[in-house]
Amino acid sequence: MDEVSKGKQHDGDGEFYARLLRAYFDSTNDAIFVLCNELKFLSCNRRMESWLGIAEDELTRHNCRIPITNLVGNTDTAACFERAARDVLGGESQRFECLLEPDDATPRWVEINMTRVDVEAGDMVIAVARDITERRAQMARILHQSTHDSLTGLPNRTSLQAFLEAQGGEGHTLAVLAIDVPRFRDVNEALGHQLADEVLKTITAGLKDIVRQYRDTRVFRLAGDQFVIVSKDVAARCWKEITESVQHWLITPMEQSGIELTLGSKIGVSLYPSHVSHPGELVRAAEAALHAAKQQATTGVKMYYPELLASGGERLALLNDLRQAIENESLAVHLQPIAPLHGQGLMRLEALARWRHPERGMVSPEHFIALAETNGLILSLTWLVIKSALEQAAPLIRNARIESVSINLSPYCLLDAGFTVKFAEMIARHGIEPSSVMLEITESIAMSERMQKYTVMSLRELGVELSIDDFGTGHSSLSKLRQLPVTELKIDRSFVTNMLNDENDEAIVIATIQLAHSLGLDVVAEGIEDADVLQRLGELGCDYAQGRYLCDALSLDDLQDWLDNKHTPGRVA
Ligand code: C2E
Ligand code: MG
Ligand code: MG
Repeated sequence: MDEVSKGKQHDGDGEFYARLLRAYFDSTNDAIFVLCNELKFLSCNRRMESWLGIAEDELTRHNCRIPITNLVGNTDTAACFERAARDVLGGESQRFECLLEPDDATPRWVEINMTRVDVEAGDMVIAVARDITERRAQMARILHQSTHDSLTGLPNRTSLQAFLEAQGGEGHTLAVLAIDVPRFRDVNEALGHQLADEVLKTITAGLKDIVRQYRDTRVFRLAGDQFVIVSKDVAARCWKEITESVQHWLITPMEQSGIELTLGSKIGVSLYPSHVSHPGELVRAAEAALHAAKQQATTGVKMYYPELLASGGERLALLNDLRQAIENESLAVHLQPIAPLHGQGLMRLEALARWRHPERGMVSPEHFIALAETNGLILSLTWLVIKSALEQAAPLIRNARIESVSINLSPYCLLDAGFTVKFAEMIARHGIEPSSVMLEITESIAMSERMQKYTVMSLRELGVELSIDDFGTGHSSLSKLRQLPVTELKIDRSFVTNMLNDENDEAIVIATIQLAHSLGLDVVAEGIEDADVLQRLGELGCDYAQGRYLCDALSLDDLQDWLDNKHTPGRVA
């Protein structure tokens, strides 16, 4: 073969190989394109043409070439290209993911690998792009599944923790409500999983409606019947209102497959920065408060306090100290006056337990009563309080200095069948009438079925008076209230203290007084802290008043002094 034909043959090979390369270039599923250092197209394959909706000819036409940053249809992506190209031209290959949103083609996520090619004409960038739209969607689905609950679609515990960890900082406040639906387990057992799932969806819908009314408030589902609501800043200050809405929603009977269900709720509350130093600790604190609320039959909502998260060892130590205090009878019982507001009869007293811990100082009754209730100490504690209250008050009753003494009763005492007999003996031993002893039971316990049947009836038959304490914090049914053998309602102090600054509180106070009177019951308002509230309650027809403005709970000696001097200015009798 001569030199000329050899040359032709080579030319033919070159053309053949160029065409072959082009075919490879166009047949791949990846988009391949070459850009100059101004990010304008020098070449691209078919895939890239279709992804951009523009033909290669047009992209590479001399003098009309447009930089890729003007074609991707997304400013973030354009910025990515610019950054990557700068680094690539500096000699570092780049890999990144971005969204292509060209005007005339379907949007897609792509993963791009870019490298520099040095040629005589100048530096070029060669890029290979792979469509990762489906991969990303799948990843998003997996991520969603791992951060959301499949039944209700609510974000789960992982999301909650991630959300809280990202919060905090100067001036921010957060409130976390841990919500439990105590009767859900019964529903699950009675109606089966399928209907129970529907109930959970209904609960979710209601909680979503509630959180929608507040800015920066969201709901999560942690497990079974456990939900959490998180509110931030302004909404965090409304935690009480949100809590009440949740309680109200869950106590509202709901219909499921023709069955009417009333579920109820237990709620634990924790606040940042009041209770914890980092938002990430809020859930643990709210769950500890929820646990405490669940231990007490009478409590619907419990606020976090530091001892709740005390280590097991610490709690055990405190429990042992409490047991000892009960055994040594070193718990004190203070007496707080309850004053008649319309000159009818004598002063009355409420007995309130006090515990001064040798190292910790005064421990709140709400705390140690809860501790006693959950550890089987409540009966012996109650007997100690009854004994001390009767010892202190009986002489005052016998001498007609006071009318009666009120004693708080834990629901656990009502489960003790021998309670009434023992109580009757103690009253008799002190030479007073059963009618000079009043027992305070909380509203939710008064409303429970079991309560109505047993001990309460026998106590009433014995002749002691019964009072419903903390009225307004539970949910009373009017018909049950009518059947209960009680003589008095005590309006919870949370409605009284601030009633002149809060229309809702005042409305509740007014309604309770009217309700009690229409049922022939007396009303006590507790938590009176100033003269204006006292005066208003008098105008509203409230029968008895109790609160710091009149007198705090005092030791017997101080109380006797107070009774002697009760007409000192500012203190009304
Ligand atoms: P409670 O029976 O509703 O008692 C009234 C509470 O209001 C008492 O709190 C009393 O000190 C407080 N208080 C009185 N005046 C005012 C006021 O003007 N403002 C405010 N903010 N509070 C006032 P305390 O003594 O801390 O008792 C808390 C709760 O602990 C009681 O609420 C009762 O549920 C329980 N408790 C106390 N002693 C006993 C007991 O011997 N047995 C049982 N089972 N529970 C008890
Ligand atoms: Mg009370
Ligand atoms: Mg009360």
